[in-house]
Amino acid sequence: MQPVPLLIRDLSFRYPSGQLALNGVSVTIAAGESVAVIGPNGAGKSTLLLHLNGLLRGSGRIQVGDTELRRETLGAVRRQVGLVFQDPDDQLFLPTCLDDVAFGPLNEGATWEAAVQRSMQALAAVGMTEHANTPPHQLSIGQRKRVALATVLSMMPSLIAFDEPSAGLDPWARRQLIGIIRHLPQTRVVATHDLALALETCRRTILMDAGTIVADGPTAEILTDTDLLLSHRMEPPGYRPPAAS
Ligand code: ADP
Repeated sequence: MQPVPLLIRDLSFRYPSGQLALNGVSVTIAAGESVAVIGPNGAGKSTLLLHLNGLLRGSGRIQVGDTELRRETLGAVRRQVGLVFQDPDDQLFLPTCLDDVAFGPLNEGATWEAAVQRSMQALAAVGMTEHANTPPHQLSIGQRKRVALATVLSMMPSLIAFDEPSAGLDPWARRQLIGIIRHLPQTRVVATHDLALALETCRRTILMDAGTIVADGPTAEILTDTDLLLSHRMEPPGYRPPAAS
């Protein structure tokens, strides 16, 4: 696995309802870089992630490594880009964790032995080896989130996009996931409301609002720019609103 750069140019997308969710998004992310995408509800973060492996198709250009995303390259791009959904139960549906993690490699034509080997490596990377034969529904949400990440890692992607990785986690499970995300070698795009997680996992942050990128810079600078964050309905970590008079 080699991390790949991501290039997005003038990406716009309107849902069939008429809602414009992305409005001219352009961004370049270097190979191996870890970038947070923050913004208020409805900013377009999830919609952007769904474009990275072609689950949604807007106008504009997306290039993953050397491959431009087009109908003919959809399979090649999907092999490179892994999406980790907010709800792990969207990714876990088989009787055991190993079955779920091996599903992707088997589907790609790997032998059972090769799929198990890749899956056990992926489960080890998220600290879940001992639960290979456990039914996912018997695990905590924090454990299920880690197994959901393993289902992506077993495909050996070059870029991983996370949607709200810490949602629903207790502080201990969140801390474990932060440690895992920080040390992944892949290019990472982390959409999150958890600004402290953004600070710990990403040196760079993109702030979105109303389908556009309104700021892009070092996470430490963006998260301390109280005026910028408040003007986009975000609160800096530790913010206390002025007392009502
Ligand atoms: P975020 O992830 O930042 O909360 P989303 O990407 O979910 O933002 O949403 C961006 C915009 O698109 C919002 O206005 C939202 O209401 C709208 N939207 C999201 N999903 C759908 C959908 N399936 N159908 C219609 N509009 C949608």
